[in-house]
Amino acid sequence: MKAAMLYGVKDLRIEDIEVPKVGPGEVLVKVKAATTCGTDLKIFKRGYVSRVIKLPTVFGHEWAGEVAEVGEGVSWPKVGMRVRAGNSAPCLRCKMCQKGCYNLCEDMIWLWGAYAEYIKIPARMVLVNMQEIPSNLSYEEAALTEPLACVLHGIEKAEVRLGDTVAILGAGPIGLMHLLCAKRLGASKTIIIDLIEERLEFAEKLGADETVNAGEKNVVNEVRKLTDSYGADVVIEAIGLPQTWEQALKLVRRGGTVLEFGGCPPDTEIKISTELLHYDQIRVMGAFHATPFHFKKALNLIASGTINVKPLITRRMPLEKIKEAFDLLLTSKKDIKIAIIP
Ligand SMILES: [Zn+2]
Ligand SMILES: [Zn+2]
Repeated sequence: MKAAMLYGVKDLRIEDIEVPKVGPGEVLVKVKAATTCGTDLKIFKRGYVSRVIKLPTVFGHEWAGEVAEVGEGVSWPKVGMRVRAGNSAPCLRCKMCQKGCYNLCEDMIWLWGAYAEYIKIPARMVLVNMQEIPSNLSYEEAALTEPLACVLHGIEKAEVRLGDTVAILGAGPIGLMHLLCAKRLGASKTIIIDLIEERLEFAEKLGADETVNAGEKNVVNEVRKLTDSYGADVVIEAIGLPQTWEQALKLVRRGGTVLEFGGCPPDTEIKISTELLHYDQIRVMGAFHATPFHFKKALNLIASGTINVKPLITRRMPLEKIKEAFDLLLTSKKDIKIAIIP
């Protein structure tokens, strides 16, 4: 089969590799669509791989497809079923899992290899994080279950409420998904902040009430202006830079919540004023990944049309052109997500 193999920084090649052999409990899926993701782009660009991925490797983690083969002892799913799965499966047994923090599982298994003709799903993932795709849903939309699951996990923790003002730093795919969710949760004013004008226009089309170009305006002043000088009820950082993590703290109102969502490079530290935490009583939180519960819920929200992720897929490209797709995402900021079709 054809598969994209990552060898190092910006070194992504299409190769012929063997179709994985299916063992007991495992499932082989023919990938019908895989979507590009900021995490993949980060790894492609920085080669930051230590804890997440070992090189050379199959690559890509957002996908949906059709069951091609099932291993011994698998009663569900059936061959031919439309499914999505992963990209993680908690063990359900470690201390974190037993406390209900499935996203923090100490024995998590991760699945890579979406940019390929076939992908093999480990037995544990078949059991805890594989879902059938409703018939009305396209494969490419179903592939977006993974990022939406992470966003749901974060925004639920941040407790956005009816009538809240929500400021979001970053109008990439994750920032835009936070925007879609914040609108649905009843935010009365959403403010999107980014450096790229095209991205801000895109956010407006998706329903952003206000946009701020951080390259042209003083972000703190602008957000104050837009919030009667109080600051936003909830601020979401969806970039993953220490500067914007710190900036987020300055955009929130007293007693408000900051969700630091974007992952920074290893060993990054930020400064935080104790006054903000004490006198202004702001709540600062992180959110890592998602739980099987969020994956299931994300798929349902996409299928029901509650969260319309379709506009986020701005281009489709064949698997053979995967390198081009990533080069494009690095250079042009016009595309949000590219669906790779094997
Ligand atoms: Zn992703
Ligand atoms: Zn666990």
